[in-house]
Amino acid sequence: MRSMITRAARCGLTNSSATKLARPVWSSCQSYRHFTATAAKRDEERKWSTPLAKQLTEAINTTGPIPLASYMRMCLTSDTGGYYTGAIQQGRDQFGKKGDFITSPEISQIFGELIGIWFVAEWISQGRPRSGVELMEVGPGRGTLMDDMLRTIKNFPDMVSSIDAIYMVEASPELRVAQKNLLCGEDTPLTESKIGYHSTSKYANLPIVWTETIQAVPKEASKTPFIVAHEFFDALPIHAFQVVDVPQQPADPSKADSPSKSKANTSPLQWREMVVAPAPPGSTHDSLGTPKLERHDGPVPEFQLAVSPSATRHSMYVPESSPRYKALKSTPNALIEVCPDAYLYAAEFAARIGGSAQHPKERASGAALILDYGPSDTIPVNSLRGIKGHKRVSPFSEPGLVDLSVDVDFMAIAEASMIASEGIEVHGPVNQGDFLEAMGIQQRAQYLAKKVGDEAKKQEIETSCQRLVDRGPNGMGKLYKALAILPENEGRRRPTGFGGDVSA
Ligand code: SAH
Repeated sequence: MRSMITRAARCGLTNSSATKLARPVWSSCQSYRHFTATAAKRDEERKWSTPLAKQLTEAINTTGPIPLASYMRMCLTSDTGGYYTGAIQQGRDQFGKKGDFITSPEISQIFGELIGIWFVAEWISQGRPRSGVELMEVGPGRGTLMDDMLRTIKNFPDMVSSIDAIYMVEASPELRVAQKNLLCGEDTPLTESKIGYHSTSKYANLPIVWTETIQAVPKEASKTPFIVAHEFFDALPIHAFQVVDVPQQPADPSKADSPSKSKANTSPLQWREMVVAPAPPGSTHDSLGTPKLERHDGPVPEFQLAVSPSATRHSMYVPESSPRYKALKSTPNALIEVCPDAYLYAAEFAARIGGSAQHPKERASGAALILDYGPSDTIPVNSLRGIKGHKRVSPFSEPGLVDLSVDVDFMAIAEASMIASEGIEVHGPVNQGDFLEAMGIQQRAQYLAKKVGDEAKKQEIETSCQRLVDRGPNGMGKLYKALAILPENEGRRRPTGFGGDVSA
């Protein structure tokens, strides 16, 4: 039987196989026109793997190579066949056996139950507010996590009655319907309003509201938001940059060799952005320098990553946005991946919990729990990966049909949260294995296993829990991490799962 893979499976592709564009291809109008004319002629005869591949190529022929972030955004959420926004239209499902990958909530119901308990513990620790609580999930997939959370939370009637509404932030219209069917029932209607779509949950009749962005979720200072993001940040587009040695042109080329000018020939280090360009027609894995790992797993990429020969809008300001990136500017060939969208989401979570200058809050309240894969404290590099049908494939093949994801920069999320709000503190990241064990995964698994008579089912409960906490390279216990954003408390109270306990 083919095993189902998680999205944390590494490809080892991208930057290492990035092409160096030898000269600025679009530095003069003449070369630009020549390029677009020949490219357009060439592309007319070309067969595309997906309509999005054609659209991307046409866009690149018009504007020049595009930032990696633009490529990712189009592949994941474009209206014309993006991976999330077009997948079910194309008759596919992303999750589970028949899909492309498997996620923790789909592996075991216990995952969502323990996340539910984590929020109950926070609700208790924050003085059991009687009203104004909002449950929010960003990127809810099939809705399985929220379903398991709600089934658990419904056992705490005082918390249930404190919940004003549940908000689901989801870009995909098809997944929104799948979530509504699971959480509310197939026959329960979904009605549209100015901010999004509304229905009522099957557990406790709580109102559920779907929006496409978090900004569309009403922001009121009196609310206590409990926010969960599971495998959401890894699906946000990244910019990638490399430090390159840029030889300085002497002011007067005729004097280039004069000894007095030799200093002008020094090579300052500058950030350059990784951009995406179409691979030449007839490319092979070899001609693209594709690592061996990639070759047997899928089609030859239609696009390739290149180091932009000149500065771009993003290369001039993004790597200057944090001392962590600035510290690398003197290291030749250093690579960084930066996710401005992750920064915006983290800042939004923090401001909703702790208040901000634009949205002051009398008392900080609520919590955000972010679970995903990525390094604890280093900046991700070479982390873009493509997955299709439980196999790793090139992220530059079949745009819109291949899932793209990246490592999450947890430190950047912590930094963005702290800058956005003085009213919060950040805990973690801690390994998923440690988090789930502290939350009682083993005890819950034993309890569930006792309740089922069937030996095979017992075994399945044990195996799936083991997978969630396994710290080995194929398990999820160490690769996946948890990070929490909480109301500022001078670090006096550690949350459950992060070294603390419930404090009523
Ligand atoms: N949390 C789920 C699904 C993870 S897949 C699970 O663990 O099973 C990523 C989810 O985020 C999908 O629901 C996808 O449609 C959604 N998504 C991806 N990019 C998004 C964006 N920019 N805005 C809102 N939702 C997005």
